[in-house]
Amino acid sequence: MYIGHVGAALGAKGIRPQVGLGVLLLATYTPDWIDAGLCLAGSPQSMLSHSVPAVALFALVATLVYGLAVRDWRSAAVVGGVVVSHMLLDFITGNKPTWPGGPMIGLRLYSIPVADFLIESVLIAFGVALYRRTLPGPRLWRDTTLMAGALLAMQLAIDIGHAVMRSVQKC
Ligand SMILES: [Zn+2]
Repeated sequence: MYIGHVGAALGAKGIRPQVGLGVLLLATYTPDWIDAGLCLAGSPQSMLSHSVPAVALFALVATLVYGLAVRDWRSAAVVGGVVVSHMLLDFITGNKPTWPGGPMIGLRLYSIPVADFLIESVLIAFGVALYRRTLPGPRLWRDTTLMAGALLAMQLAIDIGHAVMRSVQKC
């Protein structure tokens, strides 16, 4: 999953406005940051960053670090939950390892770009709708509509890329 993860971060912001959006964006892409770092370092096992034990560890670390920093454990649990959401959402669109040596699971929606776009668009729309509730002011509708439009355009570009170049490597 690509921009749909932003939808998860925006939705979490709507549910728990106390947490900074930057923290939630960091959390929502945690497995991808680790994957990219390992991949660039030349590790052939970088995709294990998306396995169940790795994501559980990242979520635990994120929860503890955020909780100890702000002393707000409900918000910390939301940050940890956003990290876990990455794995669950990637299982819908991709094909990811469960644990070292374990089976790969996933619905591989990337191979059907239209379906991937629809799923990610619903997540983006849902996230923006929840996020809207945290914003005051008269420009609210215009600004959030522009944001949703920009996110959908990014997702569309990625899905067109997938449709045109069938075997895009992520790292
Ligand atoms: Zn991922």
